[in-house]
Amino acid sequence: MTVIGVLALQGDVREHLRALTALGVEAVAVRRPAELAAVDGLVLPGGESTTIARLARTFDLLEPLRAAVRDGLPVLGTCAGMILLADRILDGAAGQETIGGLDVTVRRNAFGRQTDSFEGPVTVRGLDAPVHGVFIRAPWVEAVGKGVEVLARVEVATPHGVLDRIVMVRQGPLLAASFHPEVGDDHRVHGLFVDLVTQTVTQTS
Ligand code: GLN
Repeated sequence: MTVIGVLALQGDVREHLRALTALGVEAVAVRRPAELAAVDGLVLPGGESTTIARLARTFDLLEPLRAAVRDGLPVLGTCAGMILLADRILDGAAGQETIGGLDVTVRRNAFGRQTDSFEGPVTVRGLDAPVHGVFIRAPWVEAVGKGVEVLARVEVATPHGVLDRIVMVRQGPLLAASFHPEVGDDHRVHGLFVDLVTQTVTQTS
């Protein structure tokens, strides 16, 4: 059976475990290198990216996480998890570390004070109907590298007019979203990730 871990240092771990379980995979909390080594895929949850990175360093997980991504482990990062996967952060805390691997520049807390948190439909490439996007002090993707596929954008009103911002991307086995797909009972984004994990397991076994 496919085993998918959720990095369980801080953030909305339980909701991701619930979504994955609903999709019929074995979902486990990951707090130690040995637990990380036993999963076929990993979710980096939303929460606070600075706290998660600091705890990962304290628990001796940061280097194993980087190595796992380098070795091709499929990873879904949502919100803070997207920040943790990014190679480059704008508006990060001083000295903020990431796991990295995803060739994007992410702006932290990007939507600004007035739209700190908001909800709305998000059209995701590969899904036939929009998902309900829940954005909570969310990042957006400001720039993507060549190998990165943009899966979703949202329109944001700015003093310079309405701009399109990237809120979901994929690069090989890495998937990242600015919003919180674990909230509610629509598990289609997790479904995309489970498909990615299953494909990767089949290719490498
Ligand atoms: N603003 C948070 C951060 O920097 C992310 C918010 C979230 O995950 N809901 O990590």
